[in-house]
Amino acid sequence: MAVRSDSVDWALEDMARYPFLEKAKRYISEEAPSLEELLGDNLWGPVRRRGKARIIEALKEGRVTIKGMDDELESENELFSYPVARMLVSSIEDDFLIRRYSLGESERVVRELSRENDDAKLLDLAAELDIRARKREKYIAVHFTDYLEITEGLRSPEWKMVNQDLREGEIFLDKKRFIRLIKEKVFSSICEGLPTPVSKQILDHLEEDIKEIEEVLEETRTEITDLDLGKVEDEYFSPCIKNLLARQQEGENLSHEARFALTAFMKKVGLSKEEIISYFQESPDFDRELASYQIEHIIGEISGTEYSPPGCALMKTNGICSGADSLCDQEWMTHPLTYYSFKKRKAGEDEEGDREEYKEED
Ligand code: SF4
Repeated sequence: MAVRSDSVDWALEDMARYPFLEKAKRYISEEAPSLEELLGDNLWGPVRRRGKARIIEALKEGRVTIKGMDDELESENELFSYPVARMLVSSIEDDFLIRRYSLGESERVVRELSRENDDAKLLDLAAELDIRARKREKYIAVHFTDYLEITEGLRSPEWKMVNQDLREGEIFLDKKRFIRLIKEKVFSSICEGLPTPVSKQILDHLEEDIKEIEEVLEETRTEITDLDLGKVEDEYFSPCIKNLLARQQEGENLSHEARFALTAFMKKVGLSKEEIISYFQESPDFDRELASYQIEHIIGEISGTEYSPPGCALMKTNGICSGADSLCDQEWMTHPLTYYSFKKRKAGEDEEGDREEYKEED
């Protein structure tokens, strides 16, 4: 069954690709089996397995891959697996899982939309997401207030209002950037819609799948938080940490939150007290005794508690996130330590690649 919306025909396969749309939800409510059947009947086992696979892939890979859909049955199974995935995520009720899953689904939408040749479909989809947009010349023009709202969390200069092609209240974007905008909106709407209320019936039926996802969730969380940071290389520090260091070295009197974030970060990446002090002593009004006392307190030599450096959310709340690059714009960027570890690893891989090339030339 296809759904017609204005001038666009939405086939079942399209709804499976964009299952968060109202038309897809309507299809599910009219055509899907009862909850009891969906969760308990062997006939719907593939749908339940696919629902779980969406989450596990999102956790492990940071994306969800669309499954091949050769016929109506496969398309329906793909579509019905989306509410199953939502039930599973809601049953676990974990913020990290919700963000990771929403990111995986929104990444999938980017890949699907990039292959979409029908601009009318793109615009219809945007309208469903409450984005006012229309085709103008070879661009897609987005109402500037919608643009501002969606790009609020994007900090790299390419998204700043001053760098946009603004004409008569609309921002002109090429298709690639428009899809990036849609991705943001899909991410936030999936995230905000979770968790949904979950009944005991759902919890009982999905018990085994929930356990399996919880295990993968803990593994993923551990991999991300127990970072092996190796040798300290400050060129890979995050923009916020570099900014705080520069301000400190110029002699600015940083707020308590800023000093705390800076010191706790430096300790966590493996610097000793003396090394941290050496960064601070470039400040013109450096007071070694005072600095030592403050550092000792934060790194736990006085209190016995080594504090963890704050994540991006708290850095933003404290007004000390200076995110200015595309890495900071990634949804999975939740901590300055993650930024540092990613940059270091990436640099190592590039270097490895150069060495391989060099070997081949030999
Ligand atoms: S987004 Fe996070 S890592 Fe990037 S500057 Fe802000 S606080 Fe630092």
